Amino acid sequence: MSAGIAFGRAYLIGRDTLKAPRHHVEPDDVDTEVARLYKAIAASDKQLAKIKEKLASENESDYHIITAHQMMLHDEHLVGAAVGYIREQTINAEWALRRAVDDIAGVFDSIEDEYLRERRSDVEFVFERVLRNLLGRDTGPLAPPPDAIVVAYDLSPADTATLHKAAVAGLITDAGGKTSHTAIIARAHEIPAVVGLETITEVVETDDLVVIDGASGVVIVNPTPQTVADYREEQRRQVAAGAHLHTLRDLPARTRDDTAVQLFCNIDGPDELDDAIDYGAMGVGLFRTEYLFMGKGRLPDEERHYQVAVQVLEKLKGLPATIRTFDLGADKLAPFLEDAALEEANPALGLRSTRLCLAPLGRTLFHTQLRGLLRASAHGPIKIMFPMISGVGELRAVKAVVDEVKAELTAEGVPFDPDTKLGIMIEMPSAALTADLLAQECDFFSIGTNDLIQYTLAVDRVNEYVSYLYEPLHPSLLRLIGTVAAAAKAANIPVTICGEMAGEPMIAPVLVGLGIRELSMSAVSVPEVKSTIRSMTVTDAEALVGRIRGLATATEVRAIVSDFIFGLARPRTASGGIAAQSPADKGRA
Ligand code: PEP
Ligand code: MG
Repeated sequence: MSAGIAFGRAYLIGRDTLKAPRHHVEPDDVDTEVARLYKAIAASDKQLAKIKEKLASENESDYHIITAHQMMLHDEHLVGAAVGYIREQTINAEWALRRAVDDIAGVFDSIEDEYLRERRSDVEFVFERVLRNLLGRDTGPLAPPPDAIVVAYDLSPADTATLHKAAVAGLITDAGGKTSHTAIIARAHEIPAVVGLETITEVVETDDLVVIDGASGVVIVNPTPQTVADYREEQRRQVAAGAHLHTLRDLPARTRDDTAVQLFCNIDGPDELDDAIDYGAMGVGLFRTEYLFMGKGRLPDEERHYQVAVQVLEKLKGLPATIRTFDLGADKLAPFLEDAALEEANPALGLRSTRLCLAPLGRTLFHTQLRGLLRASAHGPIKIMFPMISGVGELRAVKAVVDEVKAELTAEGVPFDPDTKLGIMIEMPSAALTADLLAQECDFFSIGTNDLIQYTLAVDRVNEYVSYLYEPLHPSLLRLIGTVAAAAKAANIPVTICGEMAGEPMIAPVLVGLGIRELSMSAVSVPEVKSTIRSMTVTDAEALVGRIRGLATATEVRAIVSDFIFGLARPRTASGGIAAQSPADKGRA
């Protein structure tokens, strides 16, 4: 989903069933057929490169998704299988390619992990383009009229990334889930979207009037005038709330009893910083550097780490930048890791993150990244943060590598700040429970609640079957956060929360009541969290924590916390309260 309300006329993109013809080729023509396939792959690569070129300066995540698609084009396994079919069965390239894609698609279907399963559609998109090139069909961009609601079976990330240029009002699709790249790109461009509606292309016709409420996933086709009026009103409320939040940009995030709460942003690349500053973030609390490792065969060198970090510092103009060393493995895969083909039954409990940095497979990369980051420390306030630290032993091991790198730089006469702050993410119960010991040996903590919830509740964070158990307000989590905050306070070191829960306005009073004074979140959440902070007092937040302390379940905690939120006398943003749809509306998904 991608939040926001949109109205528009439907522009239906029919499900173009691109059939692959099948015919035999003469044994003498097999080489020509293989060459046709490679030529179509090369043409597809060029088309994607062109799309990417247009997008490069706008949004780094689109860029990387399309780079990943280019990599898929050259997947030896898939292309090799297609070439094998051409040669062994003397059949044409289109048919051979279709079979090779179907073989792979079958494997994707049996994967339980939602995110990985959705990569099937990426493979389909990529090779559909190749098929189009083989058949000499149109591969140009979609061209809906401006302000249209695009209705499609599915949209490729390349199409979605170019659609915002066409100024479409919204997107709705039959296929896809919340981690499909279409949804991710729509969110990045703030295009309201609802995906995974299954049969919407059968319900809607071109030129039908459509209303989308991206936040609640509602689509109404040919609504009554009353429904339109209700949604227009809701849209106005949301815009006004947004404008109100924008006016908060330059106001401090201080509680009514005058305690400052620092609000930072989480970013994936320097290109996100202009917006983040616009939303009022006071620095970077988490820079996820994994994206630097995503290009095939182009592992980042020291210069790249250095340049990117300096770019972040320049954009921040003196505000602090917390840069996390790479956190690869499990749900964050990079080509070099895929090539290593680790056979792990439980990747989330396996060779990921800092463990990988300290293992032979990742050690040189880690060393290189640390050199780049320490060199950048000469240009501004960088803090280096290590993810997934399990305890003091691992902390000492990473610090030993930092010492090695510092010694090298000193010997080479390369400038760096010797007092660069070194901190750790608290993402495992083992770290939370030994926070007092860890606090003696590092400069700051940042609680990664996404993983801390996963590992405390034993709930895979990307597994839809157990997502109902993924509960930030579980009493166990509140206890762990309280323990970490107390340990940080006793040792006089700062502690941030940088998991998704830091960006939930409703949870902010609980975190402040537990002693947290720094929150790092996706930049769009900064204004709303700031609004909550400015409407409450620390005294009340501490009393709230006192009330929830003895509660046994997350449901009970949530009830008390929502009472607290309703009680805050603050200018409220619109939430819920959307008028129900009239029964006269033609369709609803
Ligand atoms: C976390 O685990 O809360 C976190 C911020 O790290 P990531 O989501 O990148 O694993
Ligand atoms: Mg994490």
